[in-house]
Amino acid sequence: MQNIIAAISTPPGKGGVAIIRVSGEGAHELTSRIFRPASGRSLLDYPTRHAVYGYILHRGERIDDGIVTLFERGASYTGEPVAEISCHGGMLISRTVLEAVLAAGATLAGAGEFTRRAFINGRLTLTEAEAIGLLLEAKSEEQIRLTAAPARDRLKKEIEEIRASLTALLGSIYARIDYPDEDLGDFSDEETVSELTRVRADVSRLISTYRTGRAIAEGISAVICGKPNVGKSTLYNLISGEDAAIVTDIPGTTRDVLERSLPLGRVMLRLSDTAGIREGAGDDPVEKIGIEKSREKISSAELILALFDLSRPLDSDDRDIIEEIRGAGGAKICILTKADRDSVLDLTELPDIFDATLKISAKEEECEALSTLSDAINRLFTDEKISTSTDAVVASARQHSALLRAKELIDTAILAYSAGLPQDAASSDIELALGAVAEIDGRAVAESVTDDIFSRFCVGK
Ligand code: GDP
Repeated sequence: MQNIIAAISTPPGKGGVAIIRVSGEGAHELTSRIFRPASGRSLLDYPTRHAVYGYILHRGERIDDGIVTLFERGASYTGEPVAEISCHGGMLISRTVLEAVLAAGATLAGAGEFTRRAFINGRLTLTEAEAIGLLLEAKSEEQIRLTAAPARDRLKKEIEEIRASLTALLGSIYARIDYPDEDLGDFSDEETVSELTRVRADVSRLISTYRTGRAIAEGISAVICGKPNVGKSTLYNLISGEDAAIVTDIPGTTRDVLERSLPLGRVMLRLSDTAGIREGAGDDPVEKIGIEKSREKISSAELILALFDLSRPLDSDDRDIIEEIRGAGGAKICILTKADRDSVLDLTELPDIFDATLKISAKEEECEALSTLSDAINRLFTDEKISTSTDAVVASARQHSALLRAKELIDTAILAYSAGLPQDAASSDIELALGAVAEIDGRAVAESVTDDIFSRFCVGK
């Protein structure tokens, strides 16, 4: 039997209310020992899902008044009997209430332990748990849409349908292997191939959503580069909406690489603002390290925002940047800055290595410069036909790789059928494909994988 766990489930700090969650067999009885309803009755006399007002006791003293709600097994977040104690939201008072619960016999919950129990008790699939993990960290409206309950349900339903189709196929194939003389299978060979092809298309469709899902959830590693004074920090600040980087007129001010996750349109940018790469950076060792780091970032980034100053002719510093990014693997957007000034730069001197080119001015309406950039990035990294409001969208690398495996195995099964190989050759591939799909919702997944997922949650979730 699982022990009773407890933790403060609201964020640390001062607030109106704090909630201490207690979960496990006996959680109701344990809570009734430290909580006296104001009515004088026992907490256990009240029905579940009923808000009961009363006093919280610790070492025989009333330490606070608050409200307790009990949830019965099967109707709580974890699936176990749960008590939720709402007390006053001070740091010390919520910790004292937690201490009272621990003194009554509960153990402190580890990170993500409530959600892990929900998963173990079948209240959540792993896909849903992953989405909840992301929801807690969400920084953009698209991330919220991607991970909120309706989107979680859509993905869960599609994966369940794929699983159900593969299970039905396998059942039919086994029936035909075991009783070849009887007409038991639901599917003929031809029907099996067409059903496999249909399931394969469903799997492929889900796989195709990952590019967009990943850009929204995990984000794209991006780097801003350009010679000193071209407007890198200004752009960085425009995207971040605050003055994070120092904007000055002195070349070489941005010495280190700042990196932050910032929402831009639909996607998240994991954005680095790099030191200006330029020849003769002087002997300043700090600046040299900054430049070295910028080079590394440029070669590994998925997106390079290369800035050129429209108000100045292309010079050797710009050419160095061009050479630096020419061989890099990421998508490249050419951003012509200071569009509010007279245009001097000869655009024909810029090589044809960019996926998009746009002009911006920090002086124009902020939203205009940003929306031009965000449109260009969305076009490069997302599929506009995929909507987080209506589609099932895959956003985790783990789910994506399991789907790819499932698709390959279904392909092999189709080939085996088409080549007229014996039934059991195809059935073992379908069985493995089913295993890959079962990994997605966590029906068959290694403990190390679930450990990794739940360790990313906070205590209290
Ligand atoms: P960095 O060295 O590349 O980071 O360049 P900064 O962002 O620090 O900008 C250098 C100077 O150019 C600052 O004085 C900015 O105010 C100015 N600047 C940046 N963008 C624009 C722009 O679009 N128009 C004009 N007129 N000035 C700009």
